[in-house]
Amino acid sequence: MMHAISFDIEEHFQVAAFDCAARRRHWNTQESRVERNTDVILDILDKRGVKATMFVLGWVAERHKALVKRIVDTGHELASHGYAHELITAQTPQIFREDVRRAKKVLEDIGGKAVLGYRAPTFSIIKGTEWALPVLVEEGYRYDSSIFPTVHDSYGMSGANPAIHTLETDSGPIIEVPPSVCDLAGLKIPVAGGGYFRLFPYSFMKKLLRRVEAQGQPLIMYLHPWELDPDQPRMRGSLLSRFRHYLNLEKVHGRLTQLMQDFSFGPIQALLPHEQATPK
Ligand SMILES: [Zn+2]
Repeated sequence: MMHAISFDIEEHFQVAAFDCAARRRHWNTQESRVERNTDVILDILDKRGVKATMFVLGWVAERHKALVKRIVDTGHELASHGYAHELITAQTPQIFREDVRRAKKVLEDIGGKAVLGYRAPTFSIIKGTEWALPVLVEEGYRYDSSIFPTVHDSYGMSGANPAIHTLETDSGPIIEVPPSVCDLAGLKIPVAGGGYFRLFPYSFMKKLLRRVEAQGQPLIMYLHPWELDPDQPRMRGSLLSRFRHYLNLEKVHGRLTQLMQDFSFGPIQALLPHEQATPK
């Protein structure tokens, strides 16, 4: 069974849990680690012949054009993580529109290919920000991967459809590609990647992933470049945020390699109905 693997390409200092206006002002003076870390991912994928979807932040793309070109030239799908990594919950519809429009233009200008997919910072399409979906349709996006059908303190929409499906909006249809959850005794356990991929022992994670697979659902998984960088500078923040961000970083390289051996992965676009996944 073919599954999808994706990466949200952002700097280690852009993570929402540590975000604040003061830190944002220093983005330009921080040490950039995103290109080197993404190259580590590209190398792991290349060794297994796997193509992935890369949701690249517009801010990062503008500063690392060669990386964006490398992603496209090596056959991966280029998609959008927005421009400035503001949570949608902190944006007005107009600011959101400008953010996703700017990101799409930056990425398409550098990559030379239509960008069809979008993923919000911290999966921030939740109850109350569904207005983002018709805006995405109007701005030319064909699919979204921002609605996490689980319960979490900072994201998630419990009860949301966990399968790939088409959502009708006032501006037309958009395909929703939810990150994977595993139904375990009625609980929707996130198994899509990120913190849970680092928290659970790999053998347990693999069992949950096999369970999703046995239910006939393709896996939609995600990781970040900074998750493969155990040497990144440590940031100040709450104990919980620090725990979530720095837990088991040294294990991710091995686990991702193992995951690539145990399951078959491709880009998200490969899982979508053909007529909906190609640019008009
Ligand atoms: Zn992000």
